[in-house]
Amino acid sequence: MSLEEPTSSPPQVLVTGASGYVASHLVQHLLVGGKVKVRGTVRSLKNESKSAPLMKLVPDAKYPLELVEADLLNEESWIEAVKGCDYVYHVASPIIRLGATVSDEQNEIIKPAVDGTLNVLKACVAAGTVKRVVITSSVAAVSGGFIAPRDTPYTEEDWVDESTVPAYEKSKALAEKAAWDFVGKLDEDKKFELATINPSFIIGPPLTLATSDGFSLGSVKKVFTKKVPAIVHVSMAMVDVRDVAAAHIAAMETPEAAGQRYCVDSGRNLWWKEVADIMTEEFGPQGYKPASFVMPKIGVGILKFFDDTLKRVYPMIGKTVTFNSAKMRSQLGIEPRDPKISIIDSCYGLIEIGAVEKTPLYKGRTDDESKGDAKQEEKTKE
Ligand code: NAP
Repeated sequence: MSLEEPTSSPPQVLVTGASGYVASHLVQHLLVGGKVKVRGTVRSLKNESKSAPLMKLVPDAKYPLELVEADLLNEESWIEAVKGCDYVYHVASPIIRLGATVSDEQNEIIKPAVDGTLNVLKACVAAGTVKRVVITSSVAAVSGGFIAPRDTPYTEEDWVDESTVPAYEKSKALAEKAAWDFVGKLDEDKKFELATINPSFIIGPPLTLATSDGFSLGSVKKVFTKKVPAIVHVSMAMVDVRDVAAAHIAAMETPEAAGQRYCVDSGRNLWWKEVADIMTEEFGPQGYKPASFVMPKIGVGILKFFDDTLKRVYPMIGKTVTFNSAKMRSQLGIEPRDPKISIIDSCYGLIEIGAVEKTPLYKGRTDDESKGDAKQEEKTKE
């Protein structure tokens, strides 16, 4: 059954980690579409700052959002969450926030990612109703992220050697491998389909204040508000969060996506200095002063002993890692936004949601820019 087909009883869909940056966009997309009933998981329903904004995302949704509690490491919680579901988007995974220090990488990052993925998949077997699962993996599982440059772009055929990469990248690679292995070994009568979305660095506007400080958008915010003393000379393959959400939905709806991985990327890398220049061009006249000084590699080399984030980015300095997203375009029909648009929209989004203060000179966006965005949505739908 396709999500496109009209049915008397709409399919039941689960989105794990619904309050996250990517998942909140996916939830909004599904609610606006109005073709499915959406159940989302959060770690605690008592955390109003995360659950309340989700309930307000689409107030007039045809089928109102249902929220339930589930924790990646609590196997039982997934049995209840997945019960009665036809389709599952597994998005939740531990993220290392910019500037954060992780004391126990195995138990805080790797174990929840891998065991959590297996817990969700085991619950899908137990439910007996699930037809397809789409997992949010990462280019971390493809190339190890942005560490190892090569002459040709990485593709879906590539798998990183997880023993060579830091904890987060390792967690994504191991979780995705575990998922393919688990589904591959299922008995015929228990089988369901699997597809993975492997996005590059995700940018674009937040839908909730709680998601404005995550790993990727949080980095954009710190450069925009000059909360970092300097920029590092690192090139990022980027993709817009709205395109990532659309790719998830297409991977669920497209028959040929079963059994496929998709590198989801805009096809255009930007150095952080270029990101800062885009911000300055658009927001300088509106009273904002993004970071602009590029720290020399030798400086990062010294400071990395005192800063875990600099330790993580040091191996990426001066290197360009690219991804071939042709399969995303041809099979999923996604025409990704130019990352320049995504950077500008990220900053407007951060300001409008209240994560960054409005300056006295702030004008907001013009009609023309909003129209450009609407045109992009149309292009992707075609
Ligand atoms: P995010 O905003 O931090 O979302 C992560 C979600 O996972 C949150 O809802 C979080 O819940 C949930 N989660 C974490 N640990 C959990 C646990 N133990 N039990 C239950 N839920 C848990 O990050 P994001 O950027 O949207 O990332 C979403 C997915 O995209 C992740 O799988 C990530 O690896 C992948 N991805 C992200 C990027 C990027 O650049 N952002 C790039 C490639 C792939 P809480 O809110 O309660 O913490």
